[in-house]
Amino acid sequence: MSKFFRRLISSVYTERCPYCHSVMNFDDIACSKCSPKIKQEPYLFFAGGGYKGFAPFIYEDIYATAVKRFKFNNNPQYSKKLAVPLMSAVKELLEENTFDYITCVPMYPKREKKRGYNQAKLLAKDLSELVNIPYMDLIEKYKDNPPQHECDYKQRKTNVKGVYRAINKELIKGKNILVIDDIITSGCTLGECCNTLRKSGANIICCGTICMVIYT
Ligand SMILES: [Zn+2]
Repeated sequence: MSKFFRRLISSVYTERCPYCHSVMNFDDIACSKCSPKIKQEPYLFFAGGGYKGFAPFIYEDIYATAVKRFKFNNNPQYSKKLAVPLMSAVKELLEENTFDYITCVPMYPKREKKRGYNQAKLLAKDLSELVNIPYMDLIEKYKDNPPQHECDYKQRKTNVKGVYRAINKELIKGKNILVIDDIITSGCTLGECCNTLRKSGANIICCGTICMVIYT
């Protein structure tokens, strides 16, 4: 086998740790150095409007690094690894409720195209496979607002107001839905998505994210 093909194959199959980006075993969820450091909890939060959710990590240290690399550095493959702690975090929600669908916080199509993927959708789809609940696109973002991380805390609520709409209300009506995002900061984005589902007649609406930001 030529050197070129060996290099090509190893670049295709090399698995990298989401927490430190070093090479790791294909089946593990973190490398041998990071694995003992990972401390996950089901951290309870409430998205704007009072929707219950859980995150396995606080947005700090290696967890913040993982989410940033996943979101901004073209690492969609981290999703499969990060969906595992997400699944543990939402365990209580899965035991309390029977969800009809898992969905995600949608991106504005032009921005999703530019990034190449919506990290929240990847997580939602991987979680859906792990817990055997169908994934469905239920809401869309039809207004392009400035990114939430560019707004201060006070602006965040008005910035997301009315930017989402239901794709098909009939699919949502009476359904129990778990909404996934990568991170919860002010809770305004997730809250607005949940409100959109509620207005379309959803029954139970809960949330899950990888990280939760703690304001100090
Ligand atoms: Zn690592």
